Amino acid sequence: MRAVVQNDKSRAFGRARVGLAVLALAAIASGCAQGGSDQVTPAGGQQPLDAPPARALESYASKLRAAHAARGAAAHRWDLKRAPLPAPPAPEEKPRIRTREGFEVKGHEESDLPPVFTRIPTRDKVVFLTIDDGAEKDRAFLRMMSDLDVPYTAFLSGYLVKDDPRYFRKMQARGVVLNNHTLHHPYLPGLSYRAQKREICGMQRYILKRFGKRPTLFRPPYGSYNRATLRAAKACGIEYVPLWNEEVFADRWEYREADRKLRPGDIVLTHFRGPAQWKGTMPDMIRRFLNKVTAEGYAVGRLEDYL
Ligand SMILES: [Zn+2]
Repeated sequence: MRAVVQNDKSRAFGRARVGLAVLALAAIASGCAQGGSDQVTPAGGQQPLDAPPARALESYASKLRAAHAARGAAAHRWDLKRAPLPAPPAPEEKPRIRTREGFEVKGHEESDLPPVFTRIPTRDKVVFLTIDDGAEKDRAFLRMMSDLDVPYTAFLSGYLVKDDPRYFRKMQARGVVLNNHTLHHPYLPGLSYRAQKREICGMQRYILKRFGKRPTLFRPPYGSYNRATLRAAKACGIEYVPLWNEEVFADRWEYREADRKLRPGDIVLTHFRGPAQWKGTMPDMIRRFLNKVTAEGYAVGRLEDYL
């Protein structure tokens, strides 16, 4: 989505910043009471060639120390086992996103239609959190996520949003991108092309009107789609169709892969649900999510940074 045009100077600066972040993280790691510090020990030879003066490094390190302390305090407030790991900087070059093997639909060239995928090809130790539907509007969840500074991406269904769009506007004001999950959450392959297009384009218009931005990401309800779905999505301005590899609930995880392992770049699904729909609250679900990903050394990335 973003044209990558950078001159050598800005690239060198980007590298120096990454190098600084690694050094500064290593500097604070010894003061980290909650573990996970072995994840950021720099390997030999990673120091930037054009390292800035020590004062700049110290001020950068003290900023990171403050951010680290704030994350630790927020983790304590929300009863997490340890503080979430900070996400790496957005990649300088966007990865090439392709339709996952086995997720193709017959009779089209891959480049014709928006790609359907369950993970982002990256070596960064990140996973992405995506939250669907919109039934539960839990204010504590909004506070928790901004307090912890954990990014996520929402896929909204119009019929669940319309009783309280302000809830999602608050989310949007905190940097969450609101995406398309149809107007009425139907099983799309059971509908004609025209009916599918009404569901998808209708939700594009709804989000544009209510929230001021037209989505570029679409997730079909139940992850079910056919060729008409992808053609309709493309006609409605959709560029990507992200599905998921894992799903987290308030009381458990479910996995697409038989080995039940997180991998770098995995997209994780969950839902706006509360005690009426599952065994717990939104914050309970986030605790389950963060405790696992952090314990396994993963940060939560911002999906839009990789697209
Ligand atoms: Zn859904």
